[in-house]
Parts: sequence; structure tokens; C-alpha cells
Amino acid sequence: MSIYDLRAQAKLTPEQLAKMAGISPATVLRLERGGIGSLRTYERIAKAFQTSLINILPEFKAPSRPTLEDLELLDNSMSANPSDLPDLPVGNWSPTRLTDWLLCPAKGAWSTGVFDVPPDFQWPINERATVGKAVHQYAENRLDGADVNTALMGVADKNTGMDPELWLPFVEAWDASIHPTIGMPLAIERRLEVTLKGHRITAVIDVVDAHGTIRDLKTTQRLPNPTAIARESVQAPIYVAAWRETTGEMASFALDYLAQHKSGIEYTQMPIPVTETDIDRVTRQLDYAADFAARPERITPNPVNKYGCTSCTFLALCHEKFGTLTTLDAPRQTVAVS
Ligand code: SF4
Repeated sequence: MSIYDLRAQAKLTPEQLAKMAGISPATVLRLERGGIGSLRTYERIAKAFQTSLINILPEFKAPSRPTLEDLELLDNSMSANPSDLPDLPVGNWSPTRLTDWLLCPAKGAWSTGVFDVPPDFQWPINERATVGKAVHQYAENRLDGADVNTALMGVADKNTGMDPELWLPFVEAWDASIHPTIGMPLAIERRLEVTLKGHRITAVIDVVDAHGTIRDLKTTQRLPNPTAIARESVQAPIYVAAWRETTGEMASFALDYLAQHKSGIEYTQMPIPVTETDIDRVTRQLDYAADFAARPERITPNPVNKYGCTSCTFLALCHEKFGTLTTLDAPRQTVAVS
């Protein structure tokens, strides 16, 4: 049941629920609109409703979604003491999490709860990610056998606060360009786990097509460089390794890009070759990140990453914690960090 459903059932306003959970009304509304919160925020809401944590977590693949095992552990303790939990406070590794740690270990620590994020921290709403989520919902509905109208209604019902014009062009392009190439899928929205050198990783595969290729859908406004993607992808080796661990088969992997231009949506498929060398590379990257996660006192802020700190969600937190980012873009407001 969603947070919205639980709140409606309890006849609570967003403000009342926010007060009971000790979070802001804006956070309640953001989560109800499909935004992703920290695990501690979900814990607080679960406690307010006196329900299990697993009942309120978002249904769709959320990068920070913990495993069932971790949830049971957290649910029993209602606390997230990093030293009590395996690998990361909020569960397994995933491609998204690993990428955060590789870009900047401090970013990885904030986004996975290794560093405590204040309860009133405002997680940003990423509109593009919300659109991508709606398009994934549509594709999943269609691959499950729904006709176009039923699939559209399903997406509209789950995204009542979003202008359909944001996602409609993408779903039309998916139906016209991608759907016919999938055939009878071998797997749809399949959650797999793989262990690479002791690191447990969760992979949520969009679809495995009739030819046995793992396909991952991306909605974007600009196509990435295919060579850089092939060289740097952590997702492709992890997904291929997870599929092999589950089925014994070595699958191929391809990204399905729907890129929005002024002239319309353009479909481009980017096959990503995956070899044992790529899986080894990701395993070593996991070692690197896990070492920081196990000994977070070694983490230093890393503004010299690919994107810099300026647009980083955690800029204010880093500024307070490390006191080192006293550059022009350092925030003026202070944020309490435990
Ligand atoms: S603000 Fe900079 S140093 Fe801090 S997490 Fe973000 S990228 Fe890393």
C-alpha cells in the first residue's frame, strides 16, 4: 500500500502525518508523488503508521531500495546502525550506488546512509527520473500483455501529479520503435542478485528479449558517447554477471535510448559488449568502494570528480561535515550533521 493510501485510510492530512513522523510536509508530498527518500524517512513514516517498513517502500525499482533481508533486520530494530548491517546500511550494492561511490566516495556515503543525513534533509525531485519511471511503468504494463489504453491508464493512475505530455511522447516512441524488437520476452522487470568477490549486488533487469539480450531502457535528452559508455559501464557487467549466476547463460546487453529532441523522440540502441575483463573491472571497483564503506573515516570530499560539486545534492552536508568546500559555491545556510 502506498504512503498516500495509508494516509487516506488514516484520514490524515500531509501536515498531520509529517508531524507524527517528524519530517516536513513537503517530504510527505514528494514521496507521495513518487520521489525517493532516505531509508530513515521511510522508517519514521512506518513507525507513524505502526506498519512494517516493507509496506511503504516504493514499488518501482528505486536505486536505494534495500533487500528483503535488510528490511527484516531494520524492521526489527527500527534503527540503522551501520555497524550492525552488512556492507551498506541500506542494503546491497547496485550499479547506481557503485557509480555514486566511484564518482565521489563522500557522495556514496551520503546516498547510502554510511554518513547520517539529517531527518529534514530535502532530497531533490528529479523530474527527468520521474518521467523515466513512468515510461518504464508503461513498458512493463505492455510487456505484461496490457493493451495500449490499459497501459496508459495504469501510468496515469500512478502519476496523477505529472503532466502526461511529459511522458506520452516517450511511450508512443517505445511502442513504435522498441516494442516490436523485443519479441516474446524471457524475463520482465526481474530482480536478481549476484555476489562478486563477497559483495552482494542487486540488479533489476527491465527485460530480456526473445534473443536473450538484456535490454535496459533509458529516457534522455542527450545521447552519451557510446565508447565512453562501453568503457565505463558498471551496469552492463553487473547485469550480465547476475543473469549468468541465475541462469548459467552469458547474455548480451544493450541500452535502448529514447532521446528527446525538438523534432521528436529518436530511438538509438547501444549494444555494450561484456567480457570477463569487464566483470573483473567492476569487481575491483566494488572492492575499492566497499573499503571506503567499511572505513568511512578515510573518506575525504572529492570535488575533482567528473561533474564537480556545484550541482551535487550533498554540497551543504559536505560543507558542514568537512568544512573544506569554502569556495564560491559553498552554501550560506548551515545544516546540522550528526
Ligand atoms: S559535494 Fe562534492 S565532495 Fe561532497 S559528496 Fe558532492 S561531489 Fe562529493
